Amino acid sequence: MKIARISREGKEEYGIIKDHDWYPYAELARNDLGIENFIMDPVVLDELSSKEPACSINDDNITWMSPIARPGKIICVGRNYLKHAEESGNVAELKPLLFSKYSSSLIGHLSSVPYPDHTKNFDYEVELAVIIGKKASKLTESDDPRDYIFGYTVANDLTARDVQNSEKQWTRGKAFDDSLPLGPYILTKDQIADPYNQEIWLTVNGEKRQLSSTSKMIFSIPYLIRYISQAITLEPGDILLTGTPEGVGYYMDPKSTLQKGDNVACGVTNIAELRFTIV
Ligand code: MG
Repeated sequence: MKIARISREGKEEYGIIKDHDWYPYAELARNDLGIENFIMDPVVLDELSSKEPACSINDDNITWMSPIARPGKIICVGRNYLKHAEESGNVAELKPLLFSKYSSSLIGHLSSVPYPDHTKNFDYEVELAVIIGKKASKLTESDDPRDYIFGYTVANDLTARDVQNSEKQWTRGKAFDDSLPLGPYILTKDQIADPYNQEIWLTVNGEKRQLSSTSKMIFSIPYLIRYISQAITLEPGDILLTGTPEGVGYYMDPKSTLQKGDNVACGVTNIAELRFTIV
């Protein structure tokens, strides 16, 4: 199933997409905090998909929004692909390097992303994003971390690279407004047999910049969920960004970070394709 949040005829809605048909969850007009929990309920999803669709949707008749509106947490992993660690002059981390973004970072598919005022090196990072579906705290070896996943989508961990590199904490370099394009939708985990071995790619104005495989992650998604859960309780709707492969603009020769007018497309095969423009 594909689950999205859209704006249509001036209203925000959560719902399901099937073959371009839209099945909205009518009670979600109020768009409460924590509403993500409802849309993740298998009973709600079954009921929705057995109804008549409200309409057919395409990029022109709706506005895509981040599929999760107000996640409790957005936890990101730095340097989780060896060649990206190496291109930035680092070696493989011995344990996951974690940092955060905020719900104010989120922005949807086909958004116009404002070039931030506080950087001269605005850079891209395509990532596979995991949406948590069940509370996970202190998972043991006998727990299967995959049971706590709701689904997957595509993210871009937009970065003020000069700021990231000049400050000890990455918050200002990573967690600024509109720094996290996400979507277009969440693909539920039953729809993808092997998210751990998919092509992950990014283009700028059609030029291929990043191309790797999610199989190249240093710390696997199950490892990350178990590791994080030892210190931080993961809850439904939380988002986990799993790191970017090599090819970011700042470390190209010459540097090729983002400019106003650039069109960025990125994706993970068999999961989603996410596009946005820098303005
Ligand atoms: Mg990243």
